[in-house]
Amino acid sequence: MSVILTLNAGSSSLKFSAYHAETDALIASGKVDRIGPQARLWAQDAAGSELPAVDLPLSTNLAAIKAVVVALAPVIGSTPVVAVGHRIVHGGLEFDRPVILTDTILTRLAALEPFAPLHQPHNLAGVRAAMEAFPDAIQVGCFDTAFHRHHPFVNDTFALPRYYYDRGVRRYGFHGLSYDYVTSRLQTIAPSLAEGRVVVAHLGNGASMCAIQNGASVASTMGFSALDGLPMGTRCGQLDAGVVLYLLDQQGMTAAQISALLYTQSGLLGLSGLSNDMRVLSASDDPHAREAVDYFVFRVQRELGAMAAAMGGIDALVFCGGIGENAADIRARICERAAWMGIELDHGRNADHAQIISSDLSRTTVLVIPTNEELVIARAARQALGQKVD
Ligand code: ADP
Repeated sequence: MSVILTLNAGSSSLKFSAYHAETDALIASGKVDRIGPQARLWAQDAAGSELPAVDLPLSTNLAAIKAVVVALAPVIGSTPVVAVGHRIVHGGLEFDRPVILTDTILTRLAALEPFAPLHQPHNLAGVRAAMEAFPDAIQVGCFDTAFHRHHPFVNDTFALPRYYYDRGVRRYGFHGLSYDYVTSRLQTIAPSLAEGRVVVAHLGNGASMCAIQNGASVASTMGFSALDGLPMGTRCGQLDAGVVLYLLDQQGMTAAQISALLYTQSGLLGLSGLSNDMRVLSASDDPHAREAVDYFVFRVQRELGAMAAAMGGIDALVFCGGIGENAADIRARICERAAWMGIELDHGRNADHAQIISSDLSRTTVLVIPTNEELVIARAARQALGQKVD
């Protein structure tokens, strides 16, 4: 037996999962939060039982990865980790599929850091730490942009002078690992729908939507950065570029201040002044909380129309992500205004979080498919090991 580890290294957190390399069965998963003096490691086995705590320093990515290995010992013993799959936010123009990471490729990926300064450096730091922790394992990079790499030019470009497009100022699109997973699940659940026109709404703390025709990305709400499109927990979503100019010129804000505003103080948190968490807002009587949820629902409805228009129609709508998978009331509100697209919910199925939540008469099928980005990464790592993926 051997083990594949998946890692998602953020600015101060490290999410991990361990899979059987031979079967892609999950063994355990967990997270290290607040890497540094206040760090905490939490892990559970595949059945959901919490694994014993480890008492090790967690001050760096490398220390955190070493602690992960110790935390996993009760379930993997001395089984070797043969591959580590990494979530990497940006693959640029070059990487349209997973790749075995080498020093040369890491240098090319580091050149993309200016395109995703809040994520890419941390993702790559995780790779370097894993190379040190597992010198005998292959390291495989899986990119959030790859799923969209071959979307049409009209969705790839902004109407700026060509100079900028040629230098990489493009709509890359993100959440590709999630769209990849949902597309492959849909192929199993409803193969004929998977060949049609599908809108996937990935609604989590980060949120985006994608128009997928015959399994390929046609349009998406996220663009150059993970800021565009839908409002998110703390990110603003679509914003008139004139607002940024105003903040720079008239409010005297620096780029760093604007970045903090748009990434960490906006979205549901900014509008409500209360929380970035949909559960808190949905339960609140505060009028600003209500308005924040109204805005979120409205923008999803609006983008649903836009995504369907990009494909000349819609055959299926799929919800995923923390909100999409769990918030039946938000799903119902989004679908309420979509009867014109042939969407009719079955409210009982929706309340039960059934796989298909539309009525039997609905022209467009509405589904809930829990996403699993880690499994996409594990399968890519397994494929890279030269094994067959079922
Ligand atoms: P991330 O983008 O960080 O992976 P998730 O996909 O875990 O985020 O989604 C987090 C969001 O899902 C939060 O806004 C949370 O409130 C929301 N959420 C999770 N469970 C529920 C629920 N039962 N009802 C409403 N919202 C929920």
